[in-house]
Amino acid sequence: MQHDAHGWWIAEAGAPAPLPALRTDVDADVVVIGGGFTGMWSAWHLLEADPDLRIVLLEGDRCGFGPSGRNGGFVQAMTLSRPTLHELFGARGGDDLVAAAEASVGAIGAWCEAEGVDAWYHAAPHLIVHAAPGQDTKFVRAAEGEGVVALDAAQVRARCDSPLFTGGLEVKAGATVQPARLGFGLRARLLDRGVRIHEHSRVRSLDGAVAATDTARVRARTAIVAVGPASGALRSLRNRLTVSSSHIVLTEPVPDVVEALGWTGGEAISDGRTLLHYLRTTPDGRILFGWAGGRMAIGARTGGRMEVDPEVIARAKADLVRFFPALAGRRVERAWGGPIDVSPTHLPFVMPLPDGRAHAAFGFTGNGVGPSHLAGRALAALALGQTEGVAALPIVGPAPKVPPEPFRVMGAAAIRRALVAKEAAEQDGRTPSPVARALAGVPARMGMHIVR
Ligand SMILES: Cc1cc2nc3c(=O)[nH]c(=O)nc-3n(C[C@H](O)[C@H](O)[C@H](O)COP(=O)(O)OP(=O)(O)OC[C@H]3O[C@@H](n4cnc5c(N)ncnc54)[C@H](O)[C@@H]3O)c2cc1C
Repeated sequence: MQHDAHGWWIAEAGAPAPLPALRTDVDADVVVIGGGFTGMWSAWHLLEADPDLRIVLLEGDRCGFGPSGRNGGFVQAMTLSRPTLHELFGARGGDDLVAAAEASVGAIGAWCEAEGVDAWYHAAPHLIVHAAPGQDTKFVRAAEGEGVVALDAAQVRARCDSPLFTGGLEVKAGATVQPARLGFGLRARLLDRGVRIHEHSRVRSLDGAVAATDTARVRARTAIVAVGPASGALRSLRNRLTVSSSHIVLTEPVPDVVEALGWTGGEAISDGRTLLHYLRTTPDGRILFGWAGGRMAIGARTGGRMEVDPEVIARAKADLVRFFPALAGRRVERAWGGPIDVSPTHLPFVMPLPDGRAHAAFGFTGNGVGPSHLAGRALAALALGQTEGVAALPIVGPAPKVPPEPFRVMGAAAIRRALVAKEAAEQDGRTPSPVARALAGVPARMGMHIVR
C-alpha cells in the first residue's frame, strides 16, 4: 500500500504544470488567498457578476493540492442538518440555507456540463447507513424531513449489501465527483477567463486588502481569505476553529466485488458515527473508504500526521474489510489523508474580518465540496458590497468561538479519544465506559451542535 501525501485523485487527474510565483507588486480589484474550491469558486462567481474584474489568486502550494483535491468527492447539501438548522437559525433561515446548499449540488454538475469539465460528476442520493448498534437513533428527526427517506435493512442492502447495514436514510440531493479533476478544471477555466493565478505564493501577512508573500504584494480593494484549515493562522480567526484530520484508503479495481454487493448506483455512503466512515466507488471499480477519526492539530498547524497518519490508515483498512469481508485478500493500493477545519457548530462560516475589507470562509468540518460552492457565492457577493440574498444567509457573520490553546487541543483530543473508544465499543457490541460516554457528550452539553 502506497502512503501518498497528495492522494490518488491528483495522480489520476494529472496535475497541470505549476504557475509562476508572484514576483512583483500588482494592483487588483480582488485578491483571493487560497486556491482550493472555496477560493476558486469565489473567483468564478466574481467573474460571473463582473467579467472585467481584476482578480489575483495567490496559492501557497498548488491549486487543488490541498483537501479540495484529495477528499472523498461526496458533494453534499445540508439536508440532513435541517432540524438543527431550524434550532440555530429558525425555520425560515434553516430552510433557506438547505435550499441554497442543495442548489449548489446541482449547480456544480451544471457547471461541469457547461464548461466541458469531466470531473466524473455523478448525481446520486447519499445513503446514511446504520452500521453499529446505536446509530439508528441518531437521525430520527432528520428522517421525518423533506428530501430524506428512511430505509429498512433490506432496502439499504439492496443498494449495497454489507452485512453490517441494518437500515438507514436516503438523502435525495447528492452527487460524487473526482475532486482533483474538478479542482484542475476550475483552475483552467479561471485562467481562460483572465484570473491571474500565482502558485507557490504563500501569503505571510494581510493588511486590510494588501496581501504580502515573501517576494511581493497584491494591493486590492477587497480580499477573500479561503485557506481552509490554515484559517487559524489569522489572529481574528484563531479561536474560531479546531483542526482534525481524515484519512482514506483505496482498493485496487474490484469490479466483481462491487457487482456482488449490488452497489452499482454510484451512491455515496456514510455511517452514523460522529467520527464517520465514508465510502464510495470509482468508475474503474475501486472502493474508497475514509474515516474521519484522525488526530487533532495544535493551533493552525497542518502537515505531519494531519497529512499521513499510519495508525489511522491501518484502522481504516481494518474497518474496510469489516464492512466488506469479500475484500479480504484484495489489495489496498493507496492511502492518504488531510486536515479538516472544524467549527463548533460543524457548519461553515463566512465572516467579515475586523476592518471590513476582507472576508473569510472556513469551518466546513469535512463537508466542503458542495458547500464551498455556496460559500464562494457568498464571498463573491460580499466582496461586491452586496448585503442581501446569498450575502444574508445565516452562515454569514461572526463564527462562534472555541476555547483558546492549549485548552483547545487538550480538550478536543480528549473528546476525540472518548468518541473513538465509545464508537469502537458500540461497533463491537460492548457498553462504552461511563468516562467515554461522558466526554463524548461534552460538545452537546456545551451547546455545540454536531450538525448532521
Ligand atoms: C481526506 C479528506 C476527505 C474529505 N472528504 C470530503 C467529502 O467526501 N466531501 C466533502 O464535502 N468534503 C470532504 N472533505 C473536506 C473538503 O475537502 C474541504 O471541506 C474542502 O475542500 C474545503 O475547500 P477549501 O477551499 O475551503 O480549503 P482547501 O482545500 O484546504 O484549500 C485551501 C487552500 O489554501 C492554501 N493556503 C493555505 N494557507 C495559505 C496562505 N497563507 N497563502 C496562500 N494559500 C494558502 C492551501 O494550500 C490550500 O490549497 C474531506 C477532506 C479530507 C482531508
